[in-house]
Amino acid sequence: MSDNWQEDLLAFLRQNLPEAWAEAVEEGDQQTVLALRDELDNVDFVRQLGKSGWVAPDWDPAYGGRGLTRDQARQAINTLDEWEVPRTPRGSGLPLAAPTILQWSDEATKRRFLPPLATGEERWCQLFSEPGAGSDLASLATTAVRDGDDWVVNGQKVWTTMGHQAEFAMLLARTDPDQPKHKGITYFGMPMDAPGVEVRPLINMAGQLEFNEIFLTEVRVPDAYRISPVGEGWGATHTTLGAERFALSGTKKKKRRAKDEILGGKTIDQVIALATDLGLNQNPYWRQRLATEWTNQRLLRLTSQRSRANAAMGKTAGPEGSISKIAKASYNQSLQVLAMDLLGASATAWTQDNQAPASFVEEFLRTRANSIEGGTSEIQRNIVGERVLGLPREPDQFRGAPWREVPRS
Ligand SMILES: Cc1cc2nc3c(=O)[nH]c(=O)nc-3n(C[C@H](O)[C@H](O)[C@H](O)COP(=O)(O)OP(=O)(O)OC[C@H]3O[C@@H](n4cnc5c(N)ncnc54)[C@H](O)[C@@H]3O)c2cc1C
Repeated sequence: MSDNWQEDLLAFLRQNLPEAWAEAVEEGDQQTVLALRDELDNVDFVRQLGKSGWVAPDWDPAYGGRGLTRDQARQAINTLDEWEVPRTPRGSGLPLAAPTILQWSDEATKRRFLPPLATGEERWCQLFSEPGAGSDLASLATTAVRDGDDWVVNGQKVWTTMGHQAEFAMLLARTDPDQPKHKGITYFGMPMDAPGVEVRPLINMAGQLEFNEIFLTEVRVPDAYRISPVGEGWGATHTTLGAERFALSGTKKKKRRAKDEILGGKTIDQVIALATDLGLNQNPYWRQRLATEWTNQRLLRLTSQRSRANAAMGKTAGPEGSISKIAKASYNQSLQVLAMDLLGASATAWTQDNQAPASFVEEFLRTRANSIEGGTSEIQRNIVGERVLGLPREPDQFRGAPWREVPRS
């Protein structure tokens, strides 16, 4: 590592990318860069990036970073974006588990979990939701009981995105049922290949395998893999959920939409192109609707700047992320509805020689989940009401009662 981190970064990029890539960046030839990117092995590139500390350049080198200041790290990320390289490992490790581990875990746990998370060698999924605990997550019933150096976990989780591919999970389990529901929860890192973990795939309505049911029977999790202090899992959960709202609110600055964009949905440019292909872009009715969506997209970007500005100042994602998340979900869904309306009958029946509507329909179906995943829009509105506007909290007749005594469906 030299003192000049900019030189190190450029040297890394030149060594790990085809020569033509560097030339195209210098010449501002974005078409060539994007064509080369399609040929790149993303997983392998991100692994090399992570091993060299560039996935999280502001982390301590002991955690797999470069030890840069926040400002330097932002410049490094800007350089990576200018080069149009993939820079995040798959799964929810980097956006969700990492901020939680950094804020809540002890030194040994940070050193154990963060380096392989940054390289993508250990991908993470999120074991929060249960059949009886979604919006009211704190009522969760999966238990963890201490046994020597381990915890023994029993319960069922659901909607686990990437559960069939992940190596580790962010697991919430109840460790003290005699405490009120928010107080007896502990947050663990759980290996997905531990004996007793059963993954059952679920197919979403777009026909894709995206999430799973997970059954946990007598699963042993070492205490060394505990992420939060015992009984303080709810505070750590807030760190994860704040980061998730931020990730799902579309507030990250991106020049190019990722191939595996988590929210799904066609972009406004793609929908305008569809209207043009269908010969409808000059029609005043459709022009008005396209203009409305285009304007919404610009407004959303402005709303998002607030969250980005906070993140840039090093503030953790707060309740204002809920505003962006609601806005993003509703904009994304109404844009896909416009695409369906433009397609008309061919959105329900397309011909063999024209498969184009299929991908619009698939994206329309996927985006229905936007107002559910990461906390429903109703719950986000409650958060805005209570924590941003200072309105009275929702009544809860069992507030403060031991979890064991609260009736559950
Ligand atoms: C695509 C997708 C991916 C997901 N991935 C994951 C994952 O990886 N890991 C994970 O743990 N979970 C995941 N989830 C689960 C998600 O977090 C939950 O679905 C969500 O929190 C809602 O919980 P629920 O489904 O139990 O609905 P419920 O909580 O039963 O809610 C049902 C309805 O009641 C409304 N409602 C409930 N309580 C209130 C209230 N107090 N005020 C107003 N309205 C209310 C809700 O808004 C909703 O409309 C995923 C979900 C989806 C759709």
